[in-house]
Amino acid sequence: SSDAAAESVRVISTLTNAGFVAYLAGGCVRDAMLGRVPKDFDVATNATPESVREIFGKRRTLAFGASFGVIAVLPPKADRNKLSDAIPPTEVATFRSDGEYSDGRRPDSVRYGTAEEDALRRDFTINGMFYDLASRKVIDFVDGASDLQSGTLRTIGDPLDRFKEDKLRMLRAVRFATTLNFRIEEATQAAIQQFGSEISVVSGERIGAEMRKVLCSPHAAKGIQWLNDCGLLNEILPGISDVDMDRIERYLDALAIRDFPSSLACLMIAQQAATPQADAQQSKRHTAPDKAIGQIASRWKLSNEEKRQTASALTHARGIVQSLSWPWSKIQPILIDRDIGEILNVADAIIAAEELPNEAVKIAHAALQWPKEKRDPTPLLTGNDLHRYQFQAGPLFREILTETRRAQLDGEIDSHEQALEIAKRIAEGVG
Ligand code: ATP
Ligand code: MG
Repeated sequence: SSDAAAESVRVISTLTNAGFVAYLAGGCVRDAMLGRVPKDFDVATNATPESVREIFGKRRTLAFGASFGVIAVLPPKADRNKLSDAIPPTEVATFRSDGEYSDGRRPDSVRYGTAEEDALRRDFTINGMFYDLASRKVIDFVDGASDLQSGTLRTIGDPLDRFKEDKLRMLRAVRFATTLNFRIEEATQAAIQQFGSEISVVSGERIGAEMRKVLCSPHAAKGIQWLNDCGLLNEILPGISDVDMDRIERYLDALAIRDFPSSLACLMIAQQAATPQADAQQSKRHTAPDKAIGQIASRWKLSNEEKRQTASALTHARGIVQSLSWPWSKIQPILIDRDIGEILNVADAIIAAEELPNEAVKIAHAALQWPKEKRDPTPLLTGNDLHRYQFQAGPLFREILTETRRAQLDGEIDSHEQALEIAKRIAEGVG
């Protein structure tokens, strides 16, 4: 936001007034040069973390990242009590060069250094630029501007070395190329292909965070294709890769609203569609939707809401597509599901991808506009009624309520008395 931009200007002026060098760095420079609004404004400086804490005051800074040379500077108190609660802390990173990487993910040590060294330890040329507010100039040690211009995603330095150091960069490469709609430079892509199978050293949560960005991108299909080409997909989502990339592409491209749960559900449905079950035995062994998404959700640390929305779409979208012959009592509970937005979004995609008739889904969309009493009529008989009439509590209760609700929704009854008749018949075992 512009508040966050103004706050980063304040942080940089404070540092330069104290005699240090301070630049905007990395993603925000890239985004601004692309004419996009940066998410956050990171600062890079030659001031050490200790100096940064001294300048802004210990109580106005957070030092969680101090071992990597990063201090978060809090916005001033006065602003905080007004609208600007939304201003995030500004991350101030000391220019550094990274030491050896022995775990394939993080440097064993860092050493403070020059701006140029700091540019060279960054991942991609487009992410390696600084902006100097004082001179209003981009400082580009890595030829990032020309790659940005041509839409090229390229590592800084030898891609084999850079991916060997940190395996997460492979997934970041695909993520940036996907979200920015860039091409991946040949040597960079070849190096990802070489180390692709080692992506598993990266934590599931980080993989999930990158996959969320890939799947929410308008170019998600291209991203999945890259992940497959580079041998990452098989590690990240075993069972999806190589099944039928064209089908996956069709499903993802067909999504009108590209939220993460819908996109993930589409991917999984496309994969299921590509592996038809041979017989009933096989179909029993096929992982149930809840279980399949449960595994991904715990690996990627999805929120409960994301998990639930994906599972709802997985469970119901295909059903809605085929629901023309269903009784209303089977369709209606899906229409009042809290995740009906995701369910219909995915159902629309299935229809488009498979070129199926859309009558049933049209009806479902229309039914969402009905007034509440038509969409979800008040039950003709409730549990309270059954207590009041002193029906024997127990499993029979559920049976009675289910059957009277079914009869009501399917238009077989429309009064309390009729519902009570059904209840009595069931209780007497005449059912
Ligand atoms: P986003 O829009 O996703 O925030 P970003 O470029 O700001 O993109 P961050 O993860 O916020 O990405 O990282 C900020 C900067 O730090 C990057 O632009 C890059 O210069 C550097 N960086 C981040 N992760 C790595 C990494 N794994 N290896 C090397 N440099 C990295
Ligand atoms: Mg960022």
